[in-house]
Amino acid sequence: RFDKDIGQHILKNPGISDAIVEKAFLKPTDVVVEVGPGTGNITVRALEKVKKVIAIELDPRMGAEVTKRVQGTPLAKKLEVILGDVIKLPELPPCDALISNTPYQISSPLVFKMLSMPNPPRVAVLMFQREFAKRLVARPGDALYSRLSVNVNFWATCKHIMKVGKQNFKPPPKVESDVVRIEPLLGSARPNVAFEEFDGLLRIAFNRKNKTLRAAFAIKEVLAMCEKNYKVYCALHNIPIDESIADSSTATADNAAVSGMDVDMADDDDNDDGNDDQAMDQDEDNQDNQDEDDEDEDMPAFFKELKEAEAAKEASKTPSRNPKSKVAMVVRAKVAKVLAATGLADKRARQCDQNDFLKLLLAFHEEGIHFS
Ligand code: SAM
Repeated sequence: RFDKDIGQHILKNPGISDAIVEKAFLKPTDVVVEVGPGTGNITVRALEKVKKVIAIELDPRMGAEVTKRVQGTPLAKKLEVILGDVIKLPELPPCDALISNTPYQISSPLVFKMLSMPNPPRVAVLMFQREFAKRLVARPGDALYSRLSVNVNFWATCKHIMKVGKQNFKPPPKVESDVVRIEPLLGSARPNVAFEEFDGLLRIAFNRKNKTLRAAFAIKEVLAMCEKNYKVYCALHNIPIDESIADSSTATADNAAVSGMDVDMADDDDNDDGNDDQAMDQDEDNQDNQDEDDEDEDMPAFFKELKEAEAAKEASKTPSRNPKSKVAMVVRAKVAKVLAATGLADKRARQCDQNDFLKLLLAFHEEGIHFS
Protein backbone atom coordinates (compact mmCIF):
# COMPACT_ATOMS: atom_id res chain seq x y z
CA ARG A 1 0.00 0.00 0.00
CA PHE A 2 2.88 2.38 0.68
CA ASP A 3 5.12 3.45 -2.16
CA LYS A 4 8.72 3.19 -0.98
CA ASP A 5 9.94 4.70 -4.26
CA ILE A 6 8.58 8.06 -3.13
CA GLY A 7 9.74 7.63 0.46
CA GLN A 8 6.44 6.58 2.01
CA HIS A 9 7.55 5.48 5.48
CA ILE A 10 4.72 6.44 7.81
CA LEU A 11 5.48 7.35 11.39
CA LYS A 12 3.81 4.83 13.68
CA ASN A 13 5.21 6.18 16.97
CA PRO A 14 2.98 9.13 18.04
CA GLY A 15 5.70 10.32 20.42
CA ILE A 16 7.91 11.21 17.47
CA SER A 17 5.15 13.09 15.63
CA ASP A 18 4.60 15.02 18.88
CA ALA A 19 8.30 15.77 19.25
CA ILE A 20 8.62 17.10 15.67
CA VAL A 21 5.78 19.55 16.28
CA GLU A 22 6.98 20.48 19.78
CA LYS A 23 10.54 21.18 18.68
CA ALA A 24 9.31 23.74 16.16
CA PHE A 25 8.03 25.93 19.07
CA LEU A 26 4.97 26.87 17.03
CA LYS A 27 2.80 29.91 17.78
CA PRO A 28 -0.98 30.19 17.31
CA THR A 29 -0.43 32.80 14.60
CA ASP A 30 1.93 30.63 12.55
CA VAL A 31 1.47 29.39 9.01
CA VAL A 32 3.19 26.03 8.68
CA VAL A 33 4.23 24.20 5.54
CA GLU A 34 4.37 20.43 5.86
CA VAL A 35 6.04 18.47 3.09
CA GLY A 36 4.55 15.00 2.58
CA PRO A 37 1.72 14.82 5.14
CA GLY A 38 1.03 11.20 4.21
CA THR A 39 -1.88 10.01 6.35
CA GLY A 40 -1.60 13.14 8.52
CA ASN A 41 0.18 11.97 11.69
CA ILE A 42 2.21 15.16 12.03
CA THR A 43 -0.37 17.34 10.27
CA VAL A 44 -3.15 16.97 12.86
CA ARG A 45 -0.80 17.80 15.72
CA ALA A 46 0.42 20.94 13.96
CA LEU A 47 -3.15 21.97 13.05
CA GLU A 48 -4.04 21.98 16.75
CA LYS A 49 -1.35 24.57 17.46
CA VAL A 50 -1.33 27.00 14.55
CA LYS A 51 -3.41 29.26 12.31
CA LYS A 52 -2.90 27.27 9.12
CA VAL A 53 -1.08 24.24 7.71
CA ILE A 54 -0.27 24.07 3.99
CA ALA A 55 0.40 20.39 3.30
CA ILE A 56 2.19 19.61 0.03
CA GLU A 57 1.71 15.99 -1.05
CA LEU A 58 2.82 14.19 -4.20
CA ASP A 59 0.49 11.19 -3.87
CA PRO A 60 -3.21 12.08 -4.44
CA ARG A 61 -4.26 9.03 -2.34
CA MET A 62 -2.40 10.51 0.63
CA GLY A 63 -3.81 13.97 -0.10
CA ALA A 64 -7.31 12.46 0.11
CA GLU A 65 -6.38 10.56 3.28
CA VAL A 66 -5.21 13.63 5.22
CA THR A 67 -8.20 15.66 4.04
CA LYS A 68 -10.57 12.88 5.21
CA ARG A 69 -8.81 12.68 8.56
CA VAL A 70 -9.84 16.23 9.58
CA GLN A 71 -13.15 16.37 7.69
CA GLY A 72 -16.03 17.53 9.89
CA THR A 73 -13.65 18.80 12.63
CA PRO A 74 -12.69 22.42 13.40
CA LEU A 75 -9.21 21.62 12.04
CA ALA A 76 -10.52 21.18 8.49
CA LYS A 77 -10.73 24.89 7.72
CA LYS A 78 -7.12 25.41 8.80
CA LEU A 79 -5.78 22.83 6.33
CA GLU A 80 -4.84 23.52 2.74
CA VAL A 81 -3.59 20.60 0.67
CA ILE A 82 -1.47 21.26 -2.40
CA LEU A 83 -1.14 18.18 -4.61
CA GLY A 84 2.18 17.93 -6.44
CA ASP A 85 5.94 17.65 -6.21
CA VAL A 86 7.25 20.24 -3.75
CA ILE A 87 10.54 20.48 -5.61
CA LYS A 88 8.77 21.43 -8.83
CA LEU A 89 6.99 24.36 -7.19
CA PRO A 90 8.66 27.61 -8.28
CA GLU A 91 9.11 28.34 -4.57
CA LEU A 92 7.87 27.18 -1.19
CA PRO A 93 4.76 29.03 0.01
CA PRO A 94 5.69 31.81 2.46
CA CYS A 95 5.50 30.36 5.99
CA ASP A 96 6.72 30.70 9.56
CA ALA A 97 7.74 27.08 9.97
CA LEU A 98 8.53 24.09 7.80
CA ILE A 99 8.04 20.57 9.10
CA SER A 100 8.48 17.22 7.43
CA ASN A 101 9.16 13.57 7.86
CA THR A 102 11.09 14.15 4.66
CA PRO A 103 10.83 11.73 1.76
CA TYR A 104 14.52 10.93 1.65
CA GLN A 105 15.06 11.36 -2.07
CA ILE A 106 14.23 15.07 -1.87
CA SER A 107 16.27 15.88 1.26
CA SER A 108 18.93 17.90 -0.47
CA PRO A 109 16.73 19.87 -2.93
CA LEU A 110 14.27 20.63 -0.13
CA VAL A 111 16.97 22.11 2.12
CA PHE A 112 18.39 24.14 -0.76
CA LYS A 113 14.90 25.32 -1.70
CA MET A 114 14.31 26.58 1.81
CA LEU A 115 17.73 28.21 2.27
CA SER A 116 17.46 30.05 -1.05
CA MET A 117 14.15 31.71 -0.09
CA PRO A 118 14.68 35.48 0.33
CA ASN A 119 12.32 35.28 3.33
CA PRO A 120 12.76 31.79 4.71
CA PRO A 121 10.71 30.37 7.59
CA ARG A 122 11.78 31.06 11.17
CA VAL A 123 12.36 27.38 11.81
CA ALA A 124 12.39 24.01 10.07
CA VAL A 125 12.11 20.72 11.93
CA LEU A 126 12.92 17.93 9.54
CA MET A 127 13.50 14.18 9.70
CA PHE A 128 16.31 12.88 7.51
CA GLN A 129 18.36 9.74 7.00
CA ARG A 130 21.16 9.75 9.54
CA GLU A 131 23.95 10.20 7.01
CA PHE A 132 22.24 13.22 5.48
CA ALA A 133 21.69 14.74 8.93
CA LYS A 134 25.42 14.26 9.64
CA ARG A 135 26.27 16.11 6.44
CA LEU A 136 24.17 19.03 7.61
CA VAL A 137 26.13 19.48 10.80
CA ALA A 138 29.57 18.49 9.43
CA ARG A 139 32.45 20.90 10.05
CA PRO A 140 35.60 21.64 7.99
CA GLY A 141 37.84 18.59 7.98
CA ASP A 142 35.00 16.11 8.62
CA ALA A 143 34.64 13.39 6.02
CA LEU A 144 31.02 14.40 5.34
CA TYR A 145 31.78 18.13 5.01
CA SER A 146 30.21 19.29 1.75
CA ARG A 147 28.67 22.16 -0.16
CA LEU A 148 25.46 21.39 1.74
CA SER A 149 27.22 21.72 5.13
CA VAL A 150 28.69 25.11 4.23
CA ASN A 151 25.41 26.45 2.89
CA VAL A 152 23.39 25.33 5.90
CA ASN A 153 25.82 26.81 8.37
CA PHE A 154 26.18 30.01 6.37
CA TRP A 155 22.46 30.72 5.89
CA ALA A 156 21.19 29.12 9.10
CA THR A 157 22.05 27.38 12.32
CA CYS A 158 21.46 23.68 12.51
CA LYS A 159 21.00 21.49 15.55
CA HIS A 160 20.58 17.77 15.99
CA ILE A 161 17.35 17.07 17.92
CA MET A 162 16.99 13.31 18.23
CA LYS A 163 17.75 9.91 16.82
CA VAL A 164 14.89 7.87 15.40
CA GLY A 165 15.23 4.10 14.92
CA LYS A 166 13.84 2.46 11.80
CA GLN A 167 11.29 0.44 13.82
CA ASN A 168 9.30 3.67 14.30
CA PHE A 169 8.17 3.64 10.67
CA LYS A 170 5.81 1.54 8.60
CA PRO A 171 7.28 0.07 6.48
CA PRO A 172 10.69 0.42 8.19
CA PRO A 173 13.33 2.12 5.99
CA LYS A 174 16.76 0.49 5.48
CA VAL A 175 18.60 3.07 7.56
CA GLU A 176 18.25 5.01 10.81
CA SER A 177 16.97 8.57 10.89
CA ASP A 178 17.56 11.82 12.76
CA VAL A 179 15.46 14.90 13.42
CA VAL A 180 17.22 18.24 13.02
CA ARG A 181 16.17 21.81 13.61
CA ILE A 182 17.33 24.41 11.10
CA GLU A 183 16.88 28.07 11.98
CA PRO A 184 17.52 30.27 8.94
CA LEU A 185 19.14 33.65 9.60
CA LEU A 186 16.49 36.30 9.09
CA GLY A 187 16.36 40.00 8.21
CA SER A 188 19.60 41.84 8.85
CA ALA A 189 21.22 38.66 10.21
CA ARG A 190 20.94 37.04 6.77
CA PRO A 191 24.25 37.34 4.86
CA ASN A 192 24.13 40.17 2.38
CA VAL A 193 25.15 38.17 -0.69
CA ALA A 194 23.07 36.44 -3.35
CA PHE A 195 22.37 32.78 -2.59
CA GLU A 196 23.17 31.75 -6.18
CA GLU A 197 26.54 33.54 -6.02
CA PHE A 198 27.66 31.90 -2.78
CA ASP A 199 26.38 28.51 -3.87
CA GLY A 200 27.91 28.97 -7.33
CA LEU A 201 31.33 29.49 -5.76
CA LEU A 202 30.85 26.44 -3.52
CA ARG A 203 29.90 24.28 -6.51
CA ILE A 204 33.28 25.09 -8.07
CA ALA A 205 35.23 24.61 -4.84
CA PHE A 206 33.52 21.34 -3.89
CA ASN A 207 33.53 19.91 -7.38
CA ARG A 208 36.87 18.50 -6.22
CA LYS A 209 36.94 19.14 -2.52
CA ASN A 210 40.31 17.49 -1.96
CA LYS A 211 42.07 19.60 -4.57
CA THR A 212 43.53 23.03 -3.95
CA LEU A 213 41.31 25.95 -4.81
CA ARG A 214 43.95 26.89 -7.38
CA ALA A 215 43.28 23.57 -9.11
CA ALA A 216 39.52 23.92 -8.77
CA PHE A 217 39.64 27.31 -10.49
CA ALA A 218 42.01 26.19 -13.23
CA ILE A 219 39.44 23.91 -14.81
CA LYS A 220 38.67 25.17 -18.29
CA GLU A 221 34.88 25.07 -17.91
CA VAL A 222 35.18 27.11 -14.71
CA LEU A 223 37.37 29.73 -16.39
CA ALA A 224 35.03 29.79 -19.38
CA MET A 225 32.08 30.41 -17.06
CA CYS A 226 33.93 33.17 -15.21
CA GLU A 227 34.83 34.74 -18.54
CA LYS A 228 31.24 34.63 -19.79
CA ASN A 229 29.92 36.17 -16.57
CA TYR A 230 32.69 38.79 -16.53
CA LYS A 231 31.75 39.92 -20.03
CA VAL A 232 28.08 40.15 -19.06
CA TYR A 233 28.99 42.03 -15.87
CA CYS A 234 31.16 44.55 -17.77
CA ALA A 235 28.50 45.02 -20.46
CA LEU A 236 25.70 45.50 -17.93
CA HIS A 237 27.64 48.01 -15.86
CA ASN A 238 29.29 49.73 -18.79
CA ILE A 239 32.73 48.87 -17.45
CA PRO A 240 35.63 48.53 -19.91
CA ILE A 241 37.42 45.18 -19.80
CA ASP A 242 40.37 45.67 -17.48
CA GLU A 243 43.12 44.61 -19.89
CA SER A 244 45.92 46.12 -17.85
CA ILE A 245 45.86 43.18 -15.47
CA ALA A 246 46.66 40.75 -18.28
CA ASP A 247 49.24 43.08 -19.92
CA SER A 248 51.08 43.80 -16.71
CA SER A 249 50.96 40.25 -15.45
CA THR A 250 54.04 39.14 -17.45
CA ALA A 251 56.37 40.68 -14.91
CA THR A 252 54.31 40.50 -11.75
CA ALA A 253 53.60 38.18 -8.91
CA ASP A 254 50.11 37.79 -10.34
CA ASN A 255 51.58 36.11 -13.32
CA ALA A 256 53.56 33.79 -11.12
CA ALA A 257 50.26 32.71 -9.66
CA VAL A 258 48.76 32.25 -13.13
CA SER A 259 51.68 30.13 -14.28
CA GLY A 260 51.59 28.38 -10.94
CA MET A 261 48.05 27.49 -11.75
CA ASP A 262 49.09 25.67 -14.90
CA VAL A 263 52.08 23.99 -13.30
CA ASP A 264 49.93 22.78 -10.45
CA MET A 265 47.38 21.36 -12.77
CA ALA A 266 50.06 19.52 -14.72
CA ASP A 267 51.14 17.93 -11.45
CA ASP A 268 47.60 17.18 -10.51
CA ASP A 269 47.34 13.74 -12.00
CA ASP A 270 43.67 13.02 -11.39
CA ASN A 271 42.52 16.32 -12.71
CA ASP A 272 42.97 16.42 -16.43
CA ASP A 273 40.74 19.36 -17.20
CA GLY A 274 43.14 22.13 -16.21
CA ASN A 275 45.82 20.97 -18.58
CA ASP A 276 43.57 21.70 -21.50
CA ASP A 277 43.46 25.44 -20.91
CA GLN A 278 46.27 26.18 -23.31
CA ALA A 279 44.70 23.88 -25.84
CA MET A 280 41.40 25.66 -25.44
CA ASP A 281 42.98 29.05 -26.12
CA GLN A 282 44.67 27.64 -29.20
CA ASP A 283 41.44 26.10 -30.39
CA GLU A 284 39.76 29.45 -30.05
CA ASP A 285 42.54 31.12 -32.02
CA ASN A 286 42.28 28.47 -34.71
CA GLN A 287 38.56 28.92 -34.84
CA ASP A 288 38.91 32.65 -35.22
CA ASN A 289 41.51 32.28 -37.98
CA GLN A 290 39.16 29.91 -39.68
CA ASP A 291 36.41 32.52 -39.54
CA GLU A 292 38.70 35.12 -41.10
CA ASP A 293 39.66 32.73 -43.89
CA ASP A 294 36.04 32.17 -44.72
CA GLU A 295 35.52 35.89 -45.14
CA ASP A 296 38.51 36.10 -47.51
CA GLU A 297 37.30 33.56 -50.03
CA ASP A 298 37.43 35.88 -53.08
CA MET A 299 40.98 37.13 -52.46
CA PRO A 300 43.63 36.26 -55.10
CA ALA A 301 45.83 33.35 -53.99
CA PHE A 302 49.01 35.44 -53.62
CA PHE A 303 47.44 37.94 -51.24
CA LYS A 304 45.85 35.15 -49.38
CA GLU A 305 49.21 33.44 -48.84
CA LEU A 306 50.82 36.70 -47.87
CA LYS A 307 48.09 37.46 -45.41
CA GLU A 308 48.40 34.01 -43.92
CA ALA A 309 52.15 34.34 -43.56
CA GLU A 310 51.75 37.71 -41.87
CA ALA A 311 49.09 36.35 -39.59
CA ALA A 312 51.33 33.43 -38.64
CA LYS A 313 54.22 35.80 -37.89
CA GLU A 314 52.00 38.04 -35.80
CA ALA A 315 50.51 35.09 -33.98
CA SER A 316 53.96 33.86 -32.97
CA LYS A 317 54.72 37.30 -31.51
CA THR A 318 51.45 37.81 -29.65
CA PRO A 319 49.82 34.56 -28.64
CA SER A 320 46.32 35.98 -28.59
CA ARG A 321 45.35 39.02 -30.56
CA ASN A 322 41.65 38.55 -30.72
CA PRO A 323 39.47 40.15 -28.02
CA LYS A 324 38.03 36.79 -26.92
CA SER A 325 41.38 35.40 -25.86
CA LYS A 326 42.34 38.69 -24.31
CA VAL A 327 39.33 38.50 -22.00
CA ALA A 328 40.26 34.93 -21.18
CA MET A 329 43.71 36.14 -20.11
CA VAL A 330 42.22 38.98 -18.09
CA VAL A 331 39.95 36.53 -16.27
CA ARG A 332 42.79 34.10 -15.59
CA ALA A 333 44.88 36.92 -14.18
CA LYS A 334 42.00 38.11 -12.02
CA VAL A 335 41.34 34.60 -10.68
CA ALA A 336 45.02 34.17 -9.85
CA LYS A 337 45.10 37.60 -8.20
CA VAL A 338 42.11 36.81 -5.98
CA LEU A 339 43.48 33.41 -4.96
CA ALA A 340 46.85 34.95 -4.12
CA ALA A 341 45.40 37.98 -2.30
CA THR A 342 43.07 35.90 -0.11
CA GLY A 343 45.85 33.46 0.73
CA LEU A 344 43.50 30.59 -0.18
CA ALA A 345 45.13 29.26 -3.37
CA ASP A 346 46.71 26.29 -1.61
CA LYS A 347 43.78 25.49 0.66
CA ARG A 348 41.32 22.75 -0.19
CA ALA A 349 37.54 23.15 0.01
CA ARG A 350 37.34 20.47 2.69
CA GLN A 351 39.50 22.65 4.99
CA CYS A 352 37.81 25.99 4.33
CA ASP A 353 35.10 27.37 6.58
CA GLN A 354 32.23 29.62 5.60
CA ASN A 355 34.28 32.77 6.34
CA ASP A 356 36.98 31.64 3.92
CA PHE A 357 34.35 31.15 1.22
CA LEU A 358 32.76 34.52 1.94
CA LYS A 359 36.15 36.25 1.83
CA LEU A 360 36.84 34.56 -1.51
CA LEU A 361 33.45 35.51 -2.93
CA LEU A 362 33.78 39.16 -1.94
CA ALA A 363 37.29 39.31 -3.42
CA PHE A 364 36.00 37.82 -6.70
CA HIS A 365 33.17 40.35 -6.75
CA GLU A 366 35.71 43.16 -6.28
CA GLU A 367 37.30 41.95 -9.52
CA GLY A 368 33.94 41.70 -11.32
CA ILE A 369 33.98 37.88 -11.34
CA HIS A 370 30.61 36.25 -10.67
CA PHE A 371 29.28 32.71 -10.44
CA SER A 372 25.63 32.83 -11.36
N1 SAM B 1 4.18 12.72 7.23
C1 SAM B 1 3.82 11.32 7.16
C2 SAM B 1 4.28 10.63 8.40
O1 SAM B 1 5.26 11.10 9.01
O2 SAM B 1 3.70 9.61 8.76
C3 SAM B 1 4.40 10.67 5.89
C4 SAM B 1 5.88 10.85 5.68
S1 SAM B 1 6.51 9.90 4.37
C5 SAM B 1 8.18 9.66 4.95
C6 SAM B 1 6.80 11.02 3.07
C7 SAM B 1 5.58 11.58 2.35
O3 SAM B 1 6.02 12.48 1.34
C8 SAM B 1 4.73 10.55 1.61
O4 SAM B 1 3.37 10.77 1.89
C9 SAM B 1 5.02 10.79 0.13
O5 SAM B 1 3.93 10.48 -0.71
C10 SAM B 1 5.31 12.28 0.12
N2 SAM B 1 6.20 12.73 -0.96
C11 SAM B 1 7.20 12.04 -1.58
N3 SAM B 1 7.82 12.80 -2.48
C12 SAM B 1 7.23 14.02 -2.43
C13 SAM B 1 7.42 15.23 -3.15
N4 SAM B 1 8.38 15.32 -4.08
N5 SAM B 1 6.61 16.28 -2.88
C14 SAM B 1 5.65 16.19 -1.93
N6 SAM B 1 5.41 15.05 -1.23
C15 SAM B 1 6.19 13.98 -1.47
